[in-house]
Amino acid sequence: MVDSDGLYPRDRLDRARQAAATAGIDVLLLTPGADLRYLTGYAALPLERLTCLAVPASGEPVLVVPELERPAALASPAARLGIDIVGVGETGDAYATVADRVRAALGREPARVAVADRMWAEQEMRFRSALPAAEHQLAGEVMRRLRIRKTVAEVAALRRAGEAIDRVHERIGEWLRPGRTEREVGRDIAQAILDEGHAAVNFVIVGSGPNGASPHHDTGSRTIEAGDPVVVDIGGTTADGYCSDETRTYVVGTPPRDFADYYAVLQEAQEAACAAVRPGVSAASIDRAARQVIDAAGYGAYFVHRTGHGIGLEEHEDPYVVDGNEELLAPGMCFSIEPGIYLPGRHGARIEDIVAVTDDGVDRLNVVRRDLVTL
Ligand code: ZN
Ligand code: ZN
Ligand code: ZN
Repeated sequence: MVDSDGLYPRDRLDRARQAAATAGIDVLLLTPGADLRYLTGYAALPLERLTCLAVPASGEPVLVVPELERPAALASPAARLGIDIVGVGETGDAYATVADRVRAALGREPARVAVADRMWAEQEMRFRSALPAAEHQLAGEVMRRLRIRKTVAEVAALRRAGEAIDRVHERIGEWLRPGRTEREVGRDIAQAILDEGHAAVNFVIVGSGPNGASPHHDTGSRTIEAGDPVVVDIGGTTADGYCSDETRTYVVGTPPRDFADYYAVLQEAQEAACAAVRPGVSAASIDRAARQVIDAAGYGAYFVHRTGHGIGLEEHEDPYVVDGNEELLAPGMCFSIEPGIYLPGRHGARIEDIVAVTDDGVDRLNVVRRDLVTL
């Protein structure tokens, strides 16, 4: 795996600059989000006032922030990395400030700028006005290549997140029982996500009975009944910025007759996909490994989504474990393996773990039991 000197090493800025130059990009313009955090460690607030890291293909990067955010930026790893942090007052023009700094670093007018994929449209429009001569494109193609393979420190951070969410799943029996609503159970789970080692709750899905057949069911007012299968998919972000995401399916009491049958198929599919993970095989082949088991058992029509998604500073990022993605797995890639079987109007099940590709196989970052848990 890639070595590093901590979670937010200085060499990332140099690698981003080189990658931009290689791609013919004059400057990367990154507003608050995972790319900015990846390069600087600064978890900037997405505000209507502009915060922007400009990484020119030559010269030094600059972080332009609203004046009132300067103390927060200075307290972040960005300052330790030696990035020039420039505050812009309430009546200043932050876009012109960024443009001027970019021109000064390059010694000319930029011809191609790449903006963060999730930059607000309003900000992109203003950058078009501030840098009218430049072609604009997305920074994602450059940034995804940098972020897709995690360093040892990043895998360790994802493991800590995985252990934290494992501890929440270990405790589900404290809250999940007949007579309570999904929302009541969800509130308890959200509190536990914080208590067990996250700084933020990203999502809590509690899909009971027929709601379990909707993969992204919004935890609602349904009262859990005896015999319900319940899909619990939960995740948060730790203080160092990395995400957890783990699904287990529980039953309260005796499950419907056919449920245990397809749960066994699902568990076998999830194991098969995890066992197939190693460097040099394609992301699509991992999707196939899960799907073959489910297809062979006759449930193929009920597995309605891809097998997984990359995870890191974002809940969903590259690589996507999906049919057609021929990207080859490499050490340090981290992603979910989460096949599901959903019988519309009846019930559903999903098992989800985060895994890391190692030098010769797979490292599972979630370890809580995967067989059917009866509460
Ligand atoms: Zn999902
Ligand atoms: Zn999930
Ligand atoms: Zn997921």
